[in-house]
Amino acid sequence: ASDAQKIAIISVSNKTGLLDLAKGLVKQNVRLLASGGTAKMIREANFPVEDISSITNAKEMLGGRVKTLHPAVHAGILARDIASDEEDLASSNIKKVDYVVCNLYDFKSAIAQVNVTIGEAVEEIDIGGVTLIRAAAKNHTRVTVLTDPEDYHDFLKEIDDGEVAENSRQLYALKAFEHTADYDTTISDFFRKKYAGDGLQHLTLRYGTNPHQKPAAAYMKEANLPFKVLCGSPGFVNLLDALNAWPLVKELSQALQFPAAASFKHVSPAGAAIGVPLNDVERKVYMVDDIEGIEKSGLAQAYARARGADRMSSFGDMIAVSHEVDVPTAKIISREVSDGIVAPSYSVEALDILKRKKGGKYLVLQMDPDYEPPAQENRTVYGVQLSQHRNDARISPHDTFSTIITPKDSPPLSDSALRDLTVATIALKFTQSNSVCYALNGQVIGLGAGQQSRIHCTRLAGDKADNWWMRFHERALNIKWKKGTKRPDKSNCIDMLCSGSGMPKSEAEREDYESHFDEVPQPFTQEERDAWLQKLSEVACSSDAFFPFIDNVFRAGRSGVKYIAAPSGSQNDGAVFETASKLGITFVEQHLRLFHH
Ligand code: 5GP
Repeated sequence: ASDAQKIAIISVSNKTGLLDLAKGLVKQNVRLLASGGTAKMIREANFPVEDISSITNAKEMLGGRVKTLHPAVHAGILARDIASDEEDLASSNIKKVDYVVCNLYDFKSAIAQVNVTIGEAVEEIDIGGVTLIRAAAKNHTRVTVLTDPEDYHDFLKEIDDGEVAENSRQLYALKAFEHTADYDTTISDFFRKKYAGDGLQHLTLRYGTNPHQKPAAAYMKEANLPFKVLCGSPGFVNLLDALNAWPLVKELSQALQFPAAASFKHVSPAGAAIGVPLNDVERKVYMVDDIEGIEKSGLAQAYARARGADRMSSFGDMIAVSHEVDVPTAKIISREVSDGIVAPSYSVEALDILKRKKGGKYLVLQMDPDYEPPAQENRTVYGVQLSQHRNDARISPHDTFSTIITPKDSPPLSDSALRDLTVATIALKFTQSNSVCYALNGQVIGLGAGQQSRIHCTRLAGDKADNWWMRFHERALNIKWKKGTKRPDKSNCIDMLCSGSGMPKSEAEREDYESHFDEVPQPFTQEERDAWLQKLSEVACSSDAFFPFIDNVFRAGRSGVKYIAAPSGSQNDGAVFETASKLGITFVEQHLRLFHH
């Protein structure tokens, strides 16, 4: 072989298209060097081919574990067109390699076999092929690397016409890097399940979002999962809730220096709160007036508020709390319909209470409170990878709400206004957009999530806030229940009474509704409702993006809103500010847009 003759190293596990490739290369007078099985197939088709050993002078050994690993191969691939490299090659009598054609052992198929042993899988871990590919891809300014049989045709056409274009070499190199990366991912996935699959780094889930979406799993690369499962077995949606609810309470608690709680459903909060002490009426409305020791537990009061904000929506919730779960908190949870909880820790007695819930299947997760997620987050949607910097913007009562637009010479906001704006805004950061939140007394009182139109969010959240407030009316407080009426039925009836719009229409519906009372409460008249809503005031309202129209401000004003925080940027900003001013609402420009999806 003359020096001008090009050299190809071929070592393929997937032999598709191999003979066409060999034929094309031979036609161009390329010298073919191939590993055992590859050489055999080419030889049997009567094309000239040499074994790799003809340049290494070393036989394949260890049953194929070492085939191409040799300086004669790798120096030939890695050498650059520079004098020192040329000298090194010449002194060892090594020739430059121009083309590397390689695809790796089929590890994916091997591990797809039922009951594959670790030993069998290990044998399918390609060593030399990865090295060939990596070396050729690294040196792609000179070397062409082919890892996909689909590319043989175009490659042959290029060498027929002359040289392989730089751009082609680049794209083949990229593909080569993807090929080895994907290969290594498959291997590490396999071993993660085998060696850390008991919840340490990998947790098999029963199914994904829906029961027919199998298989499903939660896992971490390069680290252990930040939570432990203490009881039950989490579903996919449980984890979506927990992993949004936990950062919410962590941030809320840090921002306001209070224990915090959230009640999540469908990846949005139904309620979120800090542990502002409850008064007697609140305890009654939130159905926790009989919980012993609640007044001494900030955490229990935080959860009572979070759960109490919108009891209908909280039915079957995923709970997050910022501090160690104590007995009063566990007692509140134990008699509500709930799916699970995530907390940094549990007292022994509290854990015992929770473990007895749902026949021992209540989901209890323990979160590592020091866990910090990486800055970059990725997800796949319809096969497309989306990647972004995590929303790690901080919301704090002191920094976030200092730009007061109206009134003009406003004094600084009161601590309670800052507190409630903080609660509302942090809740939005973890709520599906669009979202608008009303807060009072350190808790969410109305949250509109996932609406495409902002005014629909503002109305939904406002209607929820109104409902919440109607529950404090003495008629709702003094309902005479039929003995044995269950808590969820009470919540449903109270919601019907308070929302008004839900009052029974048909005879059957009326019968069902009325069956829960000893004495059926009078429906509220519009006048009664208006008069009572007049008394709701000092409410804080936050929006995850600007208000496009003034209707939002009007709607907020109807539900006792005195403080609004929202980003600016609307063509209507001026009119929005003016409307707030007319209604006596303090408008704070909050500089962060907080879409969440
Ligand atoms: P053949 O069928 O030619 O015997 O083997 C081809 C396969 O061997 C290719 O998938 C290639 O990636 C892999 N391979 C090439 N060199 C080595 C080596 O030195 N060690 C191991 N374990 N695999 C290699």
